[in-house]
Amino acid sequence: MESSANKKRTVSSDTITGVLKRIIAENGRDHIGGYAFAISCLVVVALSTAFTAWIMKVIIDEAFANRRADMVWIICLSIFIAFVLRGFASYGQAVALSRIGNNIVARYQRRLYAHLMTLSVGFYNEARSAHIAAQVSQNVGGIRDVMNLTITSTARDLLTFIALLGVMVFQDPLLSLAVFILAPPLLYGLRYLSKRLRQVTREAIHLNSHVLGAMQETIQGIAIVKAFTMEGELVRKLNKLVGAAENRANRIARLSERNAPMTETFAGFAVASILAYAAYRSIYHNVPPGAFFSFVTALLLAYDPARRLARLQVQLERAVVNARMIYELLDMEPRQRDLPDAKPLNVTDARIEFRDVSFAYSADPILNNVSFVAEGGKTTALVGPSGAGKSTVINLIPRFFDPKSGQIFIDGQDIAHVTKQSLRQQLAYVSQQPYLFEGTIRENIRYGRPEATDAEVEEAARLAYAHEFILAQSNGYDTPVGENGVTLSGGQRQRLSIARALVRKAPILLLDEATSALDTESEAAVQRALDEAMTGRTVVVIAHRLSTVVRADKMVVMQQGRVVEEGNHETLAKRNDGLYARLNNLQRPAASDSF
Ligand code: ADP
Repeated sequence: MESSANKKRTVSSDTITGVLKRIIAENGRDHIGGYAFAISCLVVVALSTAFTAWIMKVIIDEAFANRRADMVWIICLSIFIAFVLRGFASYGQAVALSRIGNNIVARYQRRLYAHLMTLSVGFYNEARSAHIAAQVSQNVGGIRDVMNLTITSTARDLLTFIALLGVMVFQDPLLSLAVFILAPPLLYGLRYLSKRLRQVTREAIHLNSHVLGAMQETIQGIAIVKAFTMEGELVRKLNKLVGAAENRANRIARLSERNAPMTETFAGFAVASILAYAAYRSIYHNVPPGAFFSFVTALLLAYDPARRLARLQVQLERAVVNARMIYELLDMEPRQRDLPDAKPLNVTDARIEFRDVSFAYSADPILNNVSFVAEGGKTTALVGPSGAGKSTVINLIPRFFDPKSGQIFIDGQDIAHVTKQSLRQQLAYVSQQPYLFEGTIRENIRYGRPEATDAEVEEAARLAYAHEFILAQSNGYDTPVGENGVTLSGGQRQRLSIARALVRKAPILLLDEATSALDTESEAAVQRALDEAMTGRTVVVIAHRLSTVVRADKMVVMQQGRVVEEGNHETLAKRNDGLYARLNNLQRPAASDSF
């Protein structure tokens, strides 16, 4: 924790230089060859540009004033060669820098994705997923831009600028001095602009992620949106957000482009006055015009790199804002590390025991001194009204969250003292909402255990009553599912997620039964698949169906974060004053099979 806090402080407090140093430290060495090549190309670009300015004096004085016909072809050939060299060198540096840039983006994307995997479920609970997505996709480019802007600008523009400045001073020291005096006030104005821009850019990224988030939420909850006829309200809300984002983007445009009128006005004034001075000097004092033309050519050529250098800070600021957000994400410590003395979990009976477990997501206590035992190989059903804390109990077993006090034991080992990897390997989880990932049906089942053979995958699918409908798909087990794949019914998705749990061959099964209405046939198939998954395992199930509860070996009845009753269906149903008996009686008249 200590070191990450320190790291964070250096990055965020030290604005450009801090982030720049870190980016260079992390990426510079790996690409040193590529950068060396790009920089040598840039040196060629700078020198050939300066050469074209310098040679103007020779052209004007030798070819035009002194009429040296013998010099013409040498001069023209050298100009031609300078242009060709510049063309190839520009190409070389652009390709080299792009390749490095693309590689940097790819590396950070991989690194971020791997890092996101290590963050706890609690992190995702707090952070809005759209915000994270916006950070990753928009901001990785920031790191590439920082690197390339620094290299391109310092090497190409600065070198070109210095070389041209050299030509200017060499050809006309007095005029050069005038330029030096006029330039600083302009640069000062540009600095001011860049400060304003930084603030606005940060706001814009936040606004954009709100827009993304609002859209994503609507898409995910479209059924609710329509059922409650929230369309009008949501459209109004989004319009407002989009409007704000648009305004902000316009402000960024105004601020970042505002230096154009400033620099153009300055340049116009400078060029006009220098021309006047030189023309008078040539007319009245007979000074040969060659040096002057060379000077003006250098000045005009220096304008572009100078303008880019002036913009450099503005662009760097923008890129650094993006890059810093990436580092904020990368610097987040995975909050639940394994303890230093953590051992692998050794499962024999797979007996789970909660001992005085209390837990809170934030300030409000959710579980209060929860104690119960889920015997090895038996089914324990969690029953109780909504909000009683049943899902929370399930969340604590894989250590998605850690208890505030109390302990959870599996076969006598406190799970706080075992490695999370080994703990989760012993667990299979079937959620209420079956989730399928991008990929084929086979891959989706195999996520349960990556080393499972095709035969094992099919065996699991058969046990989950999924084999037949899988074969009926166009490509059988190789049919794509997920966002871009075929549409499966709720029951079919459930059975695939049960197959995924079965192929895992884990001794403990955590199950949140689906409450969503499946058709009777599908429901029966899912039930059979579940029965198959539950045999021979320690099952902790959030029971929504009466049939599950009735057959459970044991029920743990929960209310407001406490265990209020324990026992099996027969004993609890008989207790007339008990919560379970009341729930049970409530269910019966409706002849419903679910809570
Ligand atoms: P059940 O599964 O019995 O319906 P839960 O365990 O889902 O109950 O919820 C218990 C309480 O914890 C509820 O008051 C709920 O609002 C709160 N809660 C559940 N999940 C979270 C979460 N991820 N973050 C904050 N509070 C939560």
